[in-house]
Amino acid sequence: MSDPYVPFAHVDAENQELLADLIGPLAQGIASGRFIGGDDVAEFEARFARLHGTAHAVAVGSGTDALRLSVRALGLSGRGTGITVANTFLATVGALVSEGVRPLLVDVGDDENIDVAAVEKAITPDTTLVVAVHLRGLPAAVHALRDLCAERGLTLIEDCAQAVLATVGGVPVGGFGAAGCFSLHPLKNLGACGDAGVVTTDDAGLAEEVRLLRGHGLRDRDTAVRWGENSRLDALQARLLNVKLDHVEAWTRRRRDLALLYDEELSGLPLTLPAGGEGHVYHRYVIQLDGRDALRERLRAAGVGTAVHYPVPVHRQPAALDGSVDVADGGLPTTERQAERMLSLPLHPLLREDQIRYVARRVAESVGR
Ligand SMILES: *Cc1c(COP(=O)(O)O)cnc(C)c1O
Repeated sequence: MSDPYVPFAHVDAENQELLADLIGPLAQGIASGRFIGGDDVAEFEARFARLHGTAHAVAVGSGTDALRLSVRALGLSGRGTGITVANTFLATVGALVSEGVRPLLVDVGDDENIDVAAVEKAITPDTTLVVAVHLRGLPAAVHALRDLCAERGLTLIEDCAQAVLATVGGVPVGGFGAAGCFSLHPLKNLGACGDAGVVTTDDAGLAEEVRLLRGHGLRDRDTAVRWGENSRLDALQARLLNVKLDHVEAWTRRRRDLALLYDEELSGLPLTLPAGGEGHVYHRYVIQLDGRDALRERLRAAGVGTAVHYPVPVHRQPAALDGSVDVADGGLPTTERQAERMLSLPLHPLLREDQIRYVARRVAESVGR
């Protein structure tokens, strides 16, 4: 086959391309013998906070821990309900369950993000929290959500796991709510070589509380003022991430350019293109169509990797069937319809334009043009 094979993800190649730059800091880090905390983590935190325009960034062990520790640091664990969506990665909801906050799942809009009107309808006296996911890297309606939460006395948390460098009116996500929770999982837009996460906030007290909780509640070496846990960013990961931070803006521009090329190449076909927007960072490029599985099979046969994020909405997961999760009155019809129609096409910074055109041509053939 003369046409290129288009892999869905390319984490190996992304790291290989940077290997020469990564290996020196890694070797120095290993030789230093300092693996926990230290200057490299502090440098990473300072740079991440600057990129997202927040006063503080606290690095933790994963995006899931960023959510859990934020909920706990905000004093919301063990009570109340938290409104969020079912069209997300499991961890958004799992973090609430594990902190003893009862998830109440509401529907999404056509843009796949949380429906603000549905949030407003779902609020009860028990509601303490709204978790807005910036799905695919497209910011949710943070201004409306912030106003609604302020009006009703609720806390807003942003799940920014897929939204590194995403912006709203030029302002980066991560500072619209009380806390911004980022994942640096290897497959995210800024990926560590292992698990990692970050909490961003403008609230010095909250940042300090997350710092305590991530490190056994220790104020100093020998004094625990809380029951915390062990959820730190490894110094070696911080070293690798500090190298990758030099590239993340260029990678993000590349993702956007390739996504816009898909938009152009796929326009006019009988399928729904992803909602666009200036601040979208395209963690995923997700189209929607009837007959998704047939298209997926044809693309596979043509050497194109695809994925579905997420085929089973959270409220349909076996783990959610024990009554641990509530669904808003009227159910989640848009979420369920999207789960059957969505397809993630390959999109990452190392793809070439001709590969995007190849994928788009195969899609066009398959859906009948
Ligand atoms: C990846 C992801 C998480 C969890 O992050 P981890 O680093 O894997 O723990 C949470 N929410 C969303 C929306 C995600 O995509």
